[in-house]
Amino acid sequence: MANILIVDDSRTSRRMLRDILERSGHVIIGEAVDGQEGYNEYVKLKPDIVTMDITMPVMDGIDSLKLIRKEDPNAKVVMITAAGQKEKMMEALKLGASEFITKPFNDDVVISTVNNLAK
Ligand SMILES: [Mg+2]
Repeated sequence: MANILIVDDSRTSRRMLRDILERSGHVIIGEAVDGQEGYNEYVKLKPDIVTMDITMPVMDGIDSLKLIRKEDPNAKVVMITAAGQKEKMMEALKLGASEFITKPFNDDVVISTVNNLAK
């Protein structure tokens, strides 16, 4: 079981991730709708794991990842990516992203990725 913060500007994506993760026994301790709010919530809530969308208004997932890893070099951040974001994925990897999950979500992939990180 892990305490998880979901950062995504899409309400549908947030709800889907919450449903999948709660069904597998994890606790969603917060949600944020852009990278700035995601960083603020990270500092406030200190989650075990963050799921971080890449494309968001105000501040994208890459800049938010950068801030979070600066704040906490051990932060576990799973990037949520869409097709055609290979360059962003490479950048996130360099910045210390732990894992990647591709949209559209596959329940089993989401669960196994998060469970592995929660160990
Ligand atoms: Mg988005």
